[in-house]
Amino acid sequence: MKERDKQRYLKMLPSVDRILQQDRVKDLLDEYPRWLVLRAVQQVIEEERIGILSSDHDTLSEDGLSLEYFSKRVSEIISTLGQLSLRKVINATGVILHTNLGRSLLNLEVLQNLITVASNFSNLEYDLKEGKRGSRYSHVENILCELTGAEAALVVNNNAGAVLLALNSIARLVEVGTTNKTHLIDYRRAITNDTALLLKVHTSNFQIVGFTSEVKLEELVYLGREFSVPVMEDLGSGCMIDLDQYGLTREPTVQEAISKGVDVVTFSGDKLLGGPQAGIILGREEVVGRIKENPLNRALRIDKLTLAALESTLRIYMEGERAVEGIPTLRMLTMPLQEIEKRAKSLYRRLRKDSSGNFHIEIKDDNSKVGGGALPLQDLPTKVISIKPVHLSVEGLEEGLRNYNPPIIARIDDARLLLDVRTLQEGEPKIIEEAIKMLTVNR
Ligand SMILES: *Cc1c(COP(=O)(O)O)cnc(C)c1O
Repeated sequence: MKERDKQRYLKMLPSVDRILQQDRVKDLLDEYPRWLVLRAVQQVIEEERIGILSSDHDTLSEDGLSLEYFSKRVSEIISTLGQLSLRKVINATGVILHTNLGRSLLNLEVLQNLITVASNFSNLEYDLKEGKRGSRYSHVENILCELTGAEAALVVNNNAGAVLLALNSIARLVEVGTTNKTHLIDYRRAITNDTALLLKVHTSNFQIVGFTSEVKLEELVYLGREFSVPVMEDLGSGCMIDLDQYGLTREPTVQEAISKGVDVVTFSGDKLLGGPQAGIILGREEVVGRIKENPLNRALRIDKLTLAALESTLRIYMEGERAVEGIPTLRMLTMPLQEIEKRAKSLYRRLRKDSSGNFHIEIKDDNSKVGGGALPLQDLPTKVISIKPVHLSVEGLEEGLRNYNPPIIARIDDARLLLDVRTLQEGEPKIIEEAIKMLTVNR
């Protein structure tokens, strides 16, 4: 295009104000904040300006300069610009504690409390009885002690922080034994006059099979007593219910660790406990007291929203068996196969309607995973919907679902797309139905 023509086209570009006056754009202003709409309008004008300057054609289609075209592009851009970066996704992977997808979900009761505490002033660090400064830890210390039998408790930002804080308060880390084999004698030999703590870390997100040997917590506690050295266990997951009654592999519970006489135990708030991200430190008063006094505690401190969600989550545990129903992580983990089957059949029927000529669909047996550092070898029998699209590749379908709004995260196995119904939440099957239809029907 000649320079003269380019200049002529540039002059034809509508102004920001004119675009803002279009009905379609005005509607957007009702729905989205003004700064966002303005940014989209500016982006469209800039796109067109660059398009004109770099055009190799002799003329431009007048369509590309119509106000209608600009309005339409503004609306398209807003639908991506308007999205938050951190947002809801649908987890169809069957991995319950998916670290990349946010681990534990909070139930509505817990959320309600979180909203109240977040949008109001609270007695976070205020003792209402005494009318003076209180401790933020007081809100969960009693309930944690009651649920687990521990003498004292402290909560921090996450379990990695809990371990760091405990070690920093009590000891310097010296490794004993080997990756696959650690015997009590390894601990015994490593004890010197300077030994301040014996630490055992639970292999919560991996298991070594074959020639292995690990020291039992009871043995370590015994050794600790012999040398008057406290014993700590990093449990990782912090399971508080007996999983074997649901046909799952036994995971050592927090209560067991405490009853075996361990001095300090640490675990996560958002793994098998099913609460918010947090690091929980429990144990004997004297040892936990030393940890509480560590100035580093201030840098790892738990925030008020987490604290609110944690207290509500712990209250559900006070109701005993109800915890399994009230805590989404536990509900997904212990979901009976019958319910999974029912869910799978229902999703199958929804999808089946649109399958003819567009995709092959069947229900298959598969395994879900606990994920997120718990029960690494546990098989959780499940039912998955297996889909093979006709008009696009299975990778194309997976990508399309991933870029859907809301994004749907699925697995691919053996050239089929697999949707595990175990981790789907209320209302999500309908969204999946719409997405699969949109992506697979030949247009
Ligand atoms: C997961 C895990 C951690 C880290 O916990 P975060 O809450 O993710 O910081 C530490 N130790 C063990 C054994 C774990 O399984």
